[in-house]
Amino acid sequence: MTHPLNLFNLNLADMEQLLVDWGEKPFRARQIFQWLHQVGLVDFSEMHNLSKVLRQKLIENSQLQLPVQIKQQIASDGTRKWLLHLDYNNHIETVFIPEDDRNTLCVSSQVGCALACSFCATAQQGFNRNLSVAEIIGQLWSAEHQLRAEQKQALKGQEARQISNIVFMGMGEPLLNYDNVIKAMRIMMDDLAYGLSWRRLTLSTAGVVPALDRLREDCPVNLAISLHASDDDLRNQLVPLNQKYPLKTLFAACDRYLTTGQRRKITYEYVLLKDVNDSPKHAKALIALLRHRPAKVNLIPFNPFAHSGYQCSTPDSIQRFQNQLIDAGLITLRRKTRGDDIDAACGQLAGKVQDKSRRKIQSANEGTL
Ligand code: SAH
Repeated sequence: MTHPLNLFNLNLADMEQLLVDWGEKPFRARQIFQWLHQVGLVDFSEMHNLSKVLRQKLIENSQLQLPVQIKQQIASDGTRKWLLHLDYNNHIETVFIPEDDRNTLCVSSQVGCALACSFCATAQQGFNRNLSVAEIIGQLWSAEHQLRAEQKQALKGQEARQISNIVFMGMGEPLLNYDNVIKAMRIMMDDLAYGLSWRRLTLSTAGVVPALDRLREDCPVNLAISLHASDDDLRNQLVPLNQKYPLKTLFAACDRYLTTGQRRKITYEYVLLKDVNDSPKHAKALIALLRHRPAKVNLIPFNPFAHSGYQCSTPDSIQRFQNQLIDAGLITLRRKTRGDDIDAACGQLAGKVQDKSRRKIQSANEGTL
């Protein structure tokens, strides 16, 4: 029998409340939390520091349910892409990116995406639903404990923390699944779970302005804004959300975001699309927008997918664009394309989505599929 109360949906505060409601001491919640997240145990009967009575209560009144990994692909550069099964017809993808000084996990926040950015493969899949807290944290749980087990085997018994950084740059718009994303981030940062500092969490958004203001108050992690254009006409086409929150409104929210006290910069992502947004004129407009702001620019060479209608800018124009920004004094990095031989790069995640937005039907009628 499956139970509606999935403990992976609870952060520590929720778990403490639950245990108190059950007439237990709050520290029991901390013990369970550590078993689940730090140790990676999903069997109540092995949680030996809990009383038998409590273990039985947990078995009878709750469940431990996580997404199931059904496919792993490993790219030539070591990047891995995992396909996770959620429920009938819904799958998401998570990407692991190993680097010399960090191991980054790129997590999804929704099944598909409703934002319809014209250059993104996820958008073409349409949208079904938000991920639960368990489905978001489950991506980290499964990556962390799988990699740890592999390392333990390779190093004969030694275990060390594996994932050092999280980016919400997988499928979906994290700020449109606000409550679950915040709760999952709190679990990621909890010392009794994964102990990641806010500096190691980055939330990427197309710019849902009201939620940006809430994020600043609730959980001010690193922010990446998917900008991609420096004038409203072009951004309306590339990121339709811009029609609701145009650049002026978006930048006012970005400026407010930096008033939380912690010293930092916002990262602005800019996907380079050939003959669309990559000319010296576009670079000049971008400089004008960012020059006086605490900003870092992340240039992303467009990652192609079938029927996208876009092409990646040439290496020369990418270089020229980057140089122009650097010459104007902007910190400008070019995102390395990782895992493209397994379609794991930015904007290529598709999973499998039971689309409720009917986008696929619309696109087919418009002849774009
Ligand atoms: N919805 C969020 C997070 C998901 S996308 C957001 O919009 O930020 C993560 C990043 O990949 C975004 O900057 C997105 O614009 C970019 N991206 C999407 N499709 C891409 C593609 N085909 N090539 C390169 N980058 C892409």
